[in-house]
Amino acid sequence: MPNNNIMMQYFEWYLPKDCSLWNNLAKDAKHLENIGITHIWLPPAYKGADGISDVGYGVYDLYDLGEFEQKGTIPTKYGTKDEYLETIKILHENNIKVLADIVLNHKIGADETEDVLAVQDDASNRNVSLTDTKSIRVWTKYLFPGRNNTYSDFKWNWTHFHGIDWDENTGTTAIYQFYGKHWDDDVDKENGNFDYLMGADIDLNNVDVVKELEKWGKWYINTTLVDGFRLDAVKHIRAEFYPEWLAEIEKNCDKKIFAVGEYWSSNINVINEYIDKTNGCMSLFDIPLHYNFYRASISNGNFNMSHIFDGTLVENNPSKAVTFVDNHDTEPGQALESWVLDWFKPLAYALILLRKDGFPCVFYGDYYGIPEKQINSKQEALDIFLRIRKYFAYGEQIDYFDDYNVIGFTRLGDYEHQNSGLAVVMSNSTGGVIQMKVGEKFANTTFYDCTGNIVETVQVDNDGMGEFSCKDGSVSVWIKQGQQVN
Ligand code: CA
Repeated sequence: MPNNNIMMQYFEWYLPKDCSLWNNLAKDAKHLENIGITHIWLPPAYKGADGISDVGYGVYDLYDLGEFEQKGTIPTKYGTKDEYLETIKILHENNIKVLADIVLNHKIGADETEDVLAVQDDASNRNVSLTDTKSIRVWTKYLFPGRNNTYSDFKWNWTHFHGIDWDENTGTTAIYQFYGKHWDDDVDKENGNFDYLMGADIDLNNVDVVKELEKWGKWYINTTLVDGFRLDAVKHIRAEFYPEWLAEIEKNCDKKIFAVGEYWSSNINVINEYIDKTNGCMSLFDIPLHYNFYRASISNGNFNMSHIFDGTLVENNPSKAVTFVDNHDTEPGQALESWVLDWFKPLAYALILLRKDGFPCVFYGDYYGIPEKQINSKQEALDIFLRIRKYFAYGEQIDYFDDYNVIGFTRLGDYEHQNSGLAVVMSNSTGGVIQMKVGEKFANTTFYDCTGNIVETVQVDNDGMGEFSCKDGSVSVWIKQGQQVN
């Protein structure tokens, strides 16, 4: 039986522009393998409009992985193309799969402007136009002079986009829909139609665009040898696009591609509908679970912990759920800020790392900290959970989700992983004790709390039952005495 998968999102928003991420990750690869990381999600690796300062989502040139003098720099924020390729190779040598962040919704930082006809839409209902057709000047010509046709001679112009948010003539920010274009129907229904997110919105119905992006995708996977994708902003992209794009890429490489999409919605019905529409071609991040964690963390004990998985993807469709606690968008100061408070982080990580369902993703900002926001590293605590996941979180799961504040679950272990099995108890308020079953194989043994929160041990009785506890606002993880977690 294979070991449990663990993904790590290996970046956070506020990394400095000289972070040398690719080189540092290469040096970190062995350590990451040791702590059980099986997949690494890397930030967008192509040149963004802000050059060396771009986190990666302001995509300028998809073909420039830190290779050409564009936007004032050869390397991206994270390093050069050679460093990127070398790091992927080293991760593979350490048995870690690599997921590339793919941003195909928009482009930013065009080389030249064009005059186009457009209408201005109501920002809160994009199905409604506020003006007649008028001429505006837009940044939509992407010529990539610094790359000089290497890999592709495709040049972008306004016909490859649906619309934009800036008129250079009048200096106006608004949502402009180009003449003869329409927002795609099959997107999220927020704001009437949420096709438009930012920058120049790519027209993913345009046959030339689709052809070029398929060509790019094949080039990308065969150049970088990544194992899969994290797909950005999928709710702003027509639902039919990615099933076809992924199938086309997979046909042209020699591996099964794993993909996880970012559909930013806390509505499980909307998420399930998207999974159906896309024929299950991708997993999705469990956004509803993140918001449950967030609410629990700010509720000062007034959150019903027995409902922590209500309305989540991992409960509704576990095989499609990538569970996470926080990410680069939920950090303090970001547009989707919803930072799970520190005291709750161990509880949240226990709930994604130690249970049987979901593909958990550990956030770089939690593991290594976010100096820019004075957020400390939680490496020490997370290392224990990661190790427990790798060696002990196996077998049947029994839930004890019966109390408003104190909940618990056990894993009974399996025979492939010696001494596997565990008991978890947590409380978002006053601590407590739950009588739980760890199974007959542990009858008459002693368990200890490997988090170190509780020093007293627990005696498992003849029937494999024990009285496991936790302290106020904390989590305790009990395993058989004698098993090491560091
Ligand atoms: Ca779009």
